[in-house]
Amino acid sequence: MNQIHHYLSGTTVTGRSERFAPVYNPATGEQSARVALASADETREAIASADQAFATWSKTSALKRARILFKFKALVEQHADEIARLISSEHGKVFSDAKGELTRGLEVVEFACGIPHLQKGEHSMNVGTGVDSFSMMQPLGVCAGISPFNFPAMVPMWMFPIALACGNTFVMKPSEKDPSTPLRLAELLSEAGLPDGVFNVINGDKEAVDVLLTDERVQAVSFVGSTPIAEYIYATASSHGKRVQALGGAKNHMVLMPDGDLDQAVDALMGAAYGSAGERCMAISVAVPVGEETASRLRDKLIAKLDTLRVGPGLVDGPDNDMGPLVTCQHLEKVKDYIATGVEEGAELVVDGRETVIEEAGNGYFIGGTLFDHVKPGMRIHSEEIFGPVLAIARAGSFDEAVSMINAHEFGNGTAIFTRDGDAARQFCEQIQVGMVGVNVPIPVPMAFHSFGGWKRSLFGPLHMHGSDGVRFYTRMKTITQRWPSGIREETNHFTMPTH
Ligand code: NAD
Repeated sequence: MNQIHHYLSGTTVTGRSERFAPVYNPATGEQSARVALASADETREAIASADQAFATWSKTSALKRARILFKFKALVEQHADEIARLISSEHGKVFSDAKGELTRGLEVVEFACGIPHLQKGEHSMNVGTGVDSFSMMQPLGVCAGISPFNFPAMVPMWMFPIALACGNTFVMKPSEKDPSTPLRLAELLSEAGLPDGVFNVINGDKEAVDVLLTDERVQAVSFVGSTPIAEYIYATASSHGKRVQALGGAKNHMVLMPDGDLDQAVDALMGAAYGSAGERCMAISVAVPVGEETASRLRDKLIAKLDTLRVGPGLVDGPDNDMGPLVTCQHLEKVKDYIATGVEEGAELVVDGRETVIEEAGNGYFIGGTLFDHVKPGMRIHSEEIFGPVLAIARAGSFDEAVSMINAHEFGNGTAIFTRDGDAARQFCEQIQVGMVGVNVPIPVPMAFHSFGGWKRSLFGPLHMHGSDGVRFYTRMKTITQRWPSGIREETNHFTMPTH
């Protein structure tokens, strides 16, 4: 059995806790490895390694830190196919999707390479007579990252490139469901010249996480995962004096106005709802057509398209499938339970993915694309995050009703509107209580040089991931007010060379 361990101080370290979690290949249903779950003591060792490395790394020039990241970027590109295969073999997503997430992660590395510019402070001369004021953006110390299963490369890369570029050291705690990718990234960071201890990976579960949230050497915690855990992370780490950004779950709605380009909207929905088997925090899980006629046209086109959705293993010879399996057997059961719940709640099950015949499914955790119609607020399949390939049509009578439905929802991660009307789009952008909004763009994920984050219970903490918020999150500002009374300049006539 393949064993997956930790990466501390520039080398692989075998876990000693004797606790393990199974890692599966979701496309075959076979266990491919077991991952060591760190004890509290082992987690403290990872923090100690990062803490020790901070003294030197924080004083290394920003240019030098950036150059290591440039090398890291080149190495990740060189190994992109290998890493994408690793992602697919533990997560299940199709190869092109795995390459896509790596690209989005690399864009954050590219952004972080600009750190000599990004970390410049502000300077004002003569804020008073002969008084200058300036600020420094200093690193915090040891930062921790805790990531979910659904983006094993991209989400860690939302965090550590900027943290390291700013001069911090890092302890990463990946999802125990697909832990191999962050370990491979750690090796490539070392190969790029990152000093030992600056980036460490500790695998584990709640026992390891709780140490990261409470140990006084950890200064900041970045978390991405489900809302109940995000809330726990935020409450616990902040009460221990740490800076926290904790991104949670989502239920993203896409409004289709009667004048929206239907073909474009349906193509967009197929990718946004079913891509990566719906296991994306920015997946569209609710389509909101405005007006009965729009709803009927949308429904008919979706049914036809669902017939052509290719579901199968993520790693195949030849063209990709559209969608791979779910991540675990338990998650597959959970998604099937939600489909049963939707039927009990009175929604109309239009296409049932449980019935889809999938060639090459074997014992993999596959399910076909599912479509519900006549879903209403109050139903659990509308209020809760399913995180699977299940799209709900929730019909709205008007633009205002669509906006109210979205604004009343617990989550506020992403949303989109499809329309040809500038006024409707403008009103939508202004009124909607959601952090990331697309206009004729289904998955409005901000680029690395902008910041990523939702509203309401999709994000706990004031600062979003990457972009300028990322740099602010991983630095502490110090403002210096400075005055130099006249001295040697006016005394030059009296200056004498010291002699022995
Ligand atoms: P999860 O909350 O189960 O796990 C996330 C991390 O928390 C993992 O590293 C896990 O080991 C750890 N964890 C789990 N239970 C814990 C506990 N009781 N105490 C301490 N740590 C614990 O999430 P997941 O299933 O891996 O990921 C899917 C979720 O992540 C979805 O809800 C999805 O919406 C969300 N997500 C959100 C975003 C975003 O940007 N808002 C991005 C990606 C994923």
